[in-house]
Amino acid sequence: MKDKLHFNSATIHGGQEPDKAYGAVMPPIYQTSTYAQSTPGGHKGFEYSRTHNPTRQALEKSLASIEQGTFGFAFGSGLAAMDAVLKLLKPGDEIISTDDLYGGSYRIFTKIFEDFGLKFHFVPMHNTKLIASSINKKTKLIWIETPTNPMMNIIDIQAVVKLVKGKGILVAVDNTFASSYIQQPLTMGADIVMHSATKYLAGHSDVVLGALVLNSSSIADKIGFIQNASGAICGPMDSFLTLRGIKTLHVRMQRHCENTAVIAKFLKNHPKIEKVYWPGFKSHPNHIIAKGQMKDYGGMLSFITKGADYKAAIKIVERLELFTLAESLGGVESLAGHPASMTHASIPKEIREKSGVVDALIRLSVGIEDVRDLISDLEQAIG
Ligand SMILES: *Cc1c(COP(=O)(O)O)cnc(C)c1O
Repeated sequence: MKDKLHFNSATIHGGQEPDKAYGAVMPPIYQTSTYAQSTPGGHKGFEYSRTHNPTRQALEKSLASIEQGTFGFAFGSGLAAMDAVLKLLKPGDEIISTDDLYGGSYRIFTKIFEDFGLKFHFVPMHNTKLIASSINKKTKLIWIETPTNPMMNIIDIQAVVKLVKGKGILVAVDNTFASSYIQQPLTMGADIVMHSATKYLAGHSDVVLGALVLNSSSIADKIGFIQNASGAICGPMDSFLTLRGIKTLHVRMQRHCENTAVIAKFLKNHPKIEKVYWPGFKSHPNHIIAKGQMKDYGGMLSFITKGADYKAAIKIVERLELFTLAESLGGVESLAGHPASMTHASIPKEIREKSGVVDALIRLSVGIEDVRDLISDLEQAIG
């Protein structure tokens, strides 16, 4: 029964069973690097913790379950998970990704893997037609991030999958912003789902961890090999914290989404606000796609105040009291960020402004506090 649970049960029970030794309901933190063998090779399925660890394995099964996938892999960070996917490729291979991308993803693409002979094309992927014109015989991977960070564009996952069908091109989706609660890209035909579990999955701003989930056993063999051979694994304590976080993912996400909807509408009606980027608005250019592929509109939004420049935006984020000015997102506490100087500072100004990340843009990760307090804080900070 445990392999066909509804999402709100899968977060708690998916892939889990009481510990075999003492029946512990939560998997113990197996803080060990190695395992006793009775004779060479005579072990209980665990030899060395880079390769396998029972706590990490419990998390990996949970990850597979909440994404409705077959194989889960946990890494030391979201970027370590991406690194493993990129190592499936060979020099000369080409990758298409969105031009409105998490800054760290752009950095690993252009500053690490370009030097190893991979070629990246960045296109505004919310316009599916523009993807088609960048595909050629060398294209091996499409890297989707939706909703995009921080412009909240929505990429039509099924349209991209349809576009590359039969061409031997992998489709990977960075599902960090939406979380598995809101969308499950494997069910839409994607080959690989990636998470910075640091964000919504772990959910309490207390761990850095990455995840991959997929269905193909041949790709899973390669990813498992890379995970062990390159060794960018997460430790048992971080695996435990993430597993614990996942158990409340659905209740947290529901509140994140409710609070964000209230704040998006408040900002939209505020006389000092120029524009609010949130896919739940009917006026959002990709609203119909969002409505089709997402269960709700998420906990993130961005906005610009009227006539604001760099300095004015910085003033607002400094004045916020309940929203903490910080990198990251997806925790129970509300955070505010200034993408141009923080998360997206590693993207050249011309490139970042072309995709809308202007100096005046402010990004909010709306937490699960009482929304009335969050609104009061925004009111006093915007003035
Ligand atoms: C944070 C983040 C990453 C990187 O994950 P880390 O866990 O920080 O390595 C990748 N993609 C998105 C969308 C993110 O928000």
